[in-house]
Amino acid sequence: MSRMLDAVVVGAGPYGLAVASSLREAGANVRVFGEPMSFWTQHMPHDMCLRSIWSASHIGDPRSSRSLAAFEREKGVVLGRPIPLSDFVAYGRWFQARALPDLDRRTVTRVETHGDALRVVASDDEAIDARNVVVAAGIAPFAARPDVFRGLPPELASHSADHADLAPFAGRRVVVIGGGQSAIESAVLLREHGAEVEVIMRAPRLQWVGRAPREGLIGPLLFDRTDVGPALISHLVAHPMLVRTLPRAIQREATRRALAPGASLWLRPRLGDLVMTVRRSVVEAARRDGAVTLRLDDGSTRTVDHVLMATGYRVDLRRYPFLAPELLARVRRVDGLPVLDPGFASSVRGLHFVGAPAVYSFGPLLRFVAGTEFAARRVTMAMTRARSTRREAERAVELPGTAN
Ligand SMILES: Cc1cc2nc3c(=O)[nH]c(=O)nc-3n(C[C@H](O)[C@H](O)[C@H](O)COP(=O)(O)OP(=O)(O)OC[C@H]3O[C@@H](n4cnc5c(N)ncnc54)[C@H](O)[C@@H]3O)c2cc1C
Repeated sequence: MSRMLDAVVVGAGPYGLAVASSLREAGANVRVFGEPMSFWTQHMPHDMCLRSIWSASHIGDPRSSRSLAAFEREKGVVLGRPIPLSDFVAYGRWFQARALPDLDRRTVTRVETHGDALRVVASDDEAIDARNVVVAAGIAPFAARPDVFRGLPPELASHSADHADLAPFAGRRVVVIGGGQSAIESAVLLREHGAEVEVIMRAPRLQWVGRAPREGLIGPLLFDRTDVGPALISHLVAHPMLVRTLPRAIQREATRRALAPGASLWLRPRLGDLVMTVRRSVVEAARRDGAVTLRLDDGSTRTVDHVLMATGYRVDLRRYPFLAPELLARVRRVDGLPVLDPGFASSVRGLHFVGAPAVYSFGPLLRFVAGTEFAARRVTMAMTRARSTRREAERAVELPGTAN
């Protein structure tokens, strides 16, 4: 049996929760699917801390009754700075329980067109029809694994997204590939768990993020509270409606600089004598006697027990397994990312994308929790407007009838 809803939200991470709660507050008949905060519990080391600062880590509106401060007040706790992952997960679950207690934990297996509407099929084959679908399914399927490691089995080479616990690497030799927060924090955690670690990165040096002040008199002049991107650029990135009007070359440069690899300064004291090899990449990787032998572009070699690819994520909508091919074919895309209107709608009527897939249309803010407020506001505005236009049209059709 199927029923027509105003919106279905696919995904219960920060974006899905923010958008669904905002739509519901605006009176929409909305249903949200997904396991709350599952990316954060299943694909990140449980003992890591958030890279985003406090002011950039609220789900939705930071002034609302569901901010981090409201969570602290209600629970009578003071969260750490940086925010421990477990505290952030608890915050997300609290948000969900308060705003969306009827959340549906089933996985969505298919989104397809159905007449004038969209049809969402849940894991038990129940079909739900909606005028709008908001895809807030995150980045898990987009983990980027460099080709050079393709021939290695998962026990010898894995992506950072494959681990929620790095303790099993105790006593093993691990090479971490990458120079971003994930690479450096994973390397630090691996060492703290007793692994022997080397980081190999292409960059000429490790970039630290967080040197310039975010607080006091000067901080707010340099950085927006959303804190995405370097000083001053942060203020531009915080205004996605402005970003989308800029020439593509400027948008690309702002995104490149805002997403450039770097590690949070608070990790530095934990670095110790971590071995880091810079300006190098792996050109060959082969399995040998239960271990991996790597050859680098300077001809040197390493033999280790495991390669951890902290090599980030590359968005490509084709990797969302639930998008029906006929639907996907009609989504206008550039480099795998959808082209979205100001209300996050794609070229398929009613089909919206929020979070990382929205970076092409709104800039790098949408890659982070700090973008949830903006996304929720814009999606809600657009759907509310469309709903009142539809109601006016329906009334206009009814009126001649009542006059008869
Ligand atoms: C190691 C690491 C650390 C990070 N640290 C930070 C940080 O400190 N601050 C920050 O702002 N950002 C951080 N990020 C980026 C972070 O991933 C995004 O900010 C955030 O996850 C975006 O939220 P989201 O709701 O788009 O996606 P997600 O949090 O990934 O949520 C997606 C949700 O969709 C659900 N889902 C997926 N497919 C389906 C389906 N078919 N049916 C039903 N549900 C589905 C999933 O179960 C999940 O709950 C980090 C990323 C990584 C990899």
